Amino acid sequence: MQVTVLAHTAEPVKVVAMAARLCYSPLDIGSLRGAGGAEDRQLIEKVLALGHESVLEHASFTLGIEGVSRALSHQLVRHRLASFSQQSQRYVSFDEGFSFQVPPSIQGDETLCQEYGELMETLASFYRRLREQGIPAEDARFVLPNAADTRLVMTMNARELRHFFRLRCCRRAQWEIRQLATEILRQVKKIALPLFQQAGPPCLTGPCPEGTMSCGEAKAVRQQFGELE
Ligand SMILES: Cc1cc2nc3c(=O)[nH]c(=O)nc-3n(C[C@H](O)[C@H](O)[C@H](O)COP(=O)(O)OP(=O)(O)OC[C@H]3O[C@@H](n4cnc5c(N)ncnc54)[C@H](O)[C@@H]3O)c2cc1C
Repeated sequence: MQVTVLAHTAEPVKVVAMAARLCYSPLDIGSLRGAGGAEDRQLIEKVLALGHESVLEHASFTLGIEGVSRALSHQLVRHRLASFSQQSQRYVSFDEGFSFQVPPSIQGDETLCQEYGELMETLASFYRRLREQGIPAEDARFVLPNAADTRLVMTMNARELRHFFRLRCCRRAQWEIRQLATEILRQVKKIALPLFQQAGPPCLTGPCPEGTMSCGEAKAVRQQFGELE
């Protein structure tokens, strides 16, 4: 999996702090730029504690995501407040074969892993055969599996990212999207720590909402995200 921050709002922390300051100030916009640093951090902390999260929508992050499965992307695109561009299986053909992901549970079993690889090869050759028979890529793609690799460009604002982290960094989320969410969190924290200070699964800041489905590992989760660098 490769995740790259392609672009983001310039000075995201300052922009969010300025938007927050504007709400409570009689000053004109030109006078609202704060000193930055601790002053901005404290203001953001305060408004987030109040639940005034709309100010986070002024900071956006555009990410390049590669080496992930279609099983992951099906879940990712359910996040409706994000924007996506995904490699097409209509306009891009896979006559030379396709790359794919192998879940760790299957990697751990030599026999199953070999059969899995053979099945992928069978699918790739049948795809090739369909194409050789004149079947268009948009129809030949019906035999491509969930395991097939895809790549996307995704844009999310900081509010939606925090929501995404809450759902997808949780140990109840599926392993591949959890890996992606955790890697994105690691990267955006480096860029705008005050916006993502306590971002992550719900158990970082309160009780686990999963009830009987809880992983029961809140302590380990808090340690993992506390050490995320
Ligand atoms: C552990 C886990 C298991 C899951 N299992 C399944 C499953 O079995 N089957 C399945 O279909 N999905 C499943 N999902 C996907 C899940 O139901 C959501 O579609 C997905 O997580 C996107 O979340 P969202 O709708 O909150 O986010 P977004 O689309 O990113 O929206 C963010 C927030 O905006 C608001 N919002 C957005 N659109 C609307 C709207 N139209 N009306 C009102 N409010 C809106 C909501 O407050 C929402 O939480 C699962 C997700 C997780 C994390």
